[in-house]
Amino acid sequence: MRNGCNNLDAAPVHPAAAGMRIVCDRCDDVALRHAHISTAFWQDAGLVVIRNIPAMVCPGCGEEYVDDATVVMIDRMRGAGFAGCAAADPLPVPVFDFAEMERCAGS
Ligand SMILES: [Zn+2]
Repeated sequence: MRNGCNNLDAAPVHPAAAGMRIVCDRCDDVALRHAHISTAFWQDAGLVVIRNIPAMVCPGCGEEYVDDATVVMIDRMRGAGFAGCAAADPLPVPVFDFAEMERCAGS
């Protein structure tokens, strides 16, 4: 089920139930594994990356699941413009113009 955060799915079962075997809801009986993931989204006119998000990842299809509390916290921080939270690192991002790419691809 999609939630308010781009690219993040709500976990089918809360990861706190770590003793349980949690399976991917897209694959047939594939157990999810604990992992830390990153996501990126547009915030105002800038690209923002959040890394080290606790998640469950399907080794079969790669689907990533994040628990509801984590998604709510990320949504709340986005809504507040990350006020009071300093970025861990600046990340230079290459920006390509499609028209320029067409010219380069043609040469
Ligand atoms: Zn899967």
